Amino acid sequence: MTLIQSINPWTGEVIKEFLPTGPKEIEEKLQLSQETFKSWKKTPISDRSKLLKAAGEILRNNKNHFARLISLEMGKVIRESRAEVEKCAWACDFYAEEGEIFLSEEHISLSDGKKAKLIHQPLGTILAVMPWNFPFWQVFRFAAPTLMAGNTGILKHASNVPQCALAIESVFQEAGFPAGVFQSFLIDSTQTLKLLEDNRIKAVSLTGSEKAGAAVASASGKNIKKSLLELGGSDPFIVLADADIEKAAETAVKARMVNFGQSCIAGKRFIIEESVYDRFLEIFKEKISQLKCGDPMNEDSDYACMARPDLAAELYVQVQKSAALGAKILKGGHKPEDGIAKFQPTILTDIPVNSPAFSEELFGPVASVFKVKSAQEAIQIANSTEFGLGASIWTTDLKRGELLASEIESGAVFLNAMVASQPALPFGGIKKSGFGRELGRQGILEFVNTKTVYLG
Ligand code: NDP
Repeated sequence: MTLIQSINPWTGEVIKEFLPTGPKEIEEKLQLSQETFKSWKKTPISDRSKLLKAAGEILRNNKNHFARLISLEMGKVIRESRAEVEKCAWACDFYAEEGEIFLSEEHISLSDGKKAKLIHQPLGTILAVMPWNFPFWQVFRFAAPTLMAGNTGILKHASNVPQCALAIESVFQEAGFPAGVFQSFLIDSTQTLKLLEDNRIKAVSLTGSEKAGAAVASASGKNIKKSLLELGGSDPFIVLADADIEKAAETAVKARMVNFGQSCIAGKRFIIEESVYDRFLEIFKEKISQLKCGDPMNEDSDYACMARPDLAAELYVQVQKSAALGAKILKGGHKPEDGIAKFQPTILTDIPVNSPAFSEELFGPVASVFKVKSAQEAIQIANSTEFGLGASIWTTDLKRGELLASEIESGAVFLNAMVASQPALPFGGIKKSGFGRELGRQGILEFVNTKTVYLG
């Protein structure tokens, strides 16, 4: 039997090993989930709200403990891990406070004088297949609205963050949620796909790669179940000639380096109008060079390492292929040591159209910088990938910014700010970035049956 290992990517040390959830336990937990749903859906929404508030409190009260687990298992710096835990508490509070309003009935007056109403009812057990990059946030972004709506949840977390998976389950237990409302399964991909054949699972939400998304959506499609996919992105970060260049360049560093570049909504392609290109690049490179690499547990580290050595190796191949096709390496670009998750921040320029840096997602600290002659050329490059998650546009002319925003093919556009998620803003993509929306009112309505009741 293959054990599930918790490995510290900074040191390579195996911290803990876990037995996978066995078939008998899976069966018991599925049954418990289904049984619990029967009472949970009838639990007054005010009680569900109190429990969610309590979960937020537990997160805040144990912020350092959970943050350490995140940094230990996936290597992000401790300051960012603490911010992640706080953001999860924010999502719990948000849905505890707004959930009832979002789920309230809607009334429709018909042309014949009759009336109808829409009621939003939970579906049952929802499966969450989640990634390692924000191991707490990705799960709470799913769980807070989904449980508030009256569903029960089962988490299949990424195999490299089992301690986070179990810690999240414990948050809900300690908050007082009935035992079957939220459970973690330590299982592999094959077992996950099998779960989708089980009638007790009603729908699935996945955040991760296109490959994982396609596999899960196919399995759920085959079983006529709803899926929500939040996949990769290659977000453009457009800086026009009239922008505040200093602010844009400083924010660009954050947008690219947050989570050591391992974020679907990280700015990945920096598309800069030619008259401000040199100035932007100078500040961008300088600020990236000032960032301090160190142990993820150190308060003053700006970055540490990637989440796994294979991810670093894969990213290097993308850089190398892009360079072989003609991209220039302005900074970094060194080969990571075999089996080591460390990676040097890298800047690429002069990127050829057919290279990975142009068309693929670079899921790590590699910035691709493009020089363009006009705003229209910027939009054309921005839209020239298969992804469509987020985009950032920098201009002091907000009217023009809004017009350009409408031309971008993505689920969100941020003007004069980096793309960032927050509980009130619907989040999700188009094209190969996936479908469906998390967060906001749209997020809580993804896993409900919006039932039409005609009042004859
Ligand atoms: P994956 O997409 O493989 O993993 C995400 C989740 O999906 C994990 O829980 C994983 O489980 C599960 N999974 C993977 N394949 C399947 C499958 N066939 N059936 C069911 N579940 C599956 O991400 P990786 O860790 O391999 O990262 C690879 C790339 O994915 C990154 O470089 C990045 O491009 C993208 N990614 C995007 C994220 C985002 O936020 N949109 C987050 C993370 C990665 P297990 O860990 O057991 O394989």
